[in-house]
Amino acid sequence: MDNQNSAQGSDGSKDLIESNSEPIVDSTAKPNSKTDSITKNKEPKATKKVPPNNFPSNVKSLLSTGIFDGVPVKYVSWSREKSLKGVIKGTGYLCSCDDCKESKALNAYEFERHAGAKTKHPNNHIYFGNGKTIYAVVQELKNTPQDMLFDAIQNVTGSAINQKNFRIWKASYQAATRELQRIYGKDEVVIPC
Ligand SMILES: [Zn+2]
Repeated sequence: MDNQNSAQGSDGSKDLIESNSEPIVDSTAKPNSKTDSITKNKEPKATKKVPPNNFPSNVKSLLSTGIFDGVPVKYVSWSREKSLKGVIKGTGYLCSCDDCKESKALNAYEFERHAGAKTKHPNNHIYFGNGKTIYAVVQELKNTPQDMLFDAIQNVTGSAINQKNFRIWKASYQAATRELQRIYGKDEVVIPC
């Protein structure tokens, strides 16, 4: 009994001393740590690495090249009960439903709605003539070696692509690749032909 009482008493007095001294330390440390986090610069990102293939990496940026303008597509739902034809125009789809009659371009979500379906990833349900989805085509081109890219683009959908826009894009792509060669050296960057 005597031992327990004395132990509790000494513990209690230690706690009081510690808790009294803590606020003083805190108030002086806080302003410093705040200004530190504001003035601290983020580490510079490593931008020197050359991508093996700087082809548009998502559906929207691929469509915005105009390469697939006029290419027929088809929305097909999972159950395959619902399907709706369309034609690529710009970054959207000319919808062939009774209301639209290919008069206006819809985005992928709108096009899907007009087909009577609703998903989070409509590009997984929009198919080219050869049965590949537009999402799969982007992935396939992304993983195509640069020296085979121009051939791959012409054959990837199973339909004729927009040759005029393809030539314009090809010229700018080659110019960009030449610029990369100038910066990084010819061994690092291959110009497709
Ligand atoms: Zn429609």
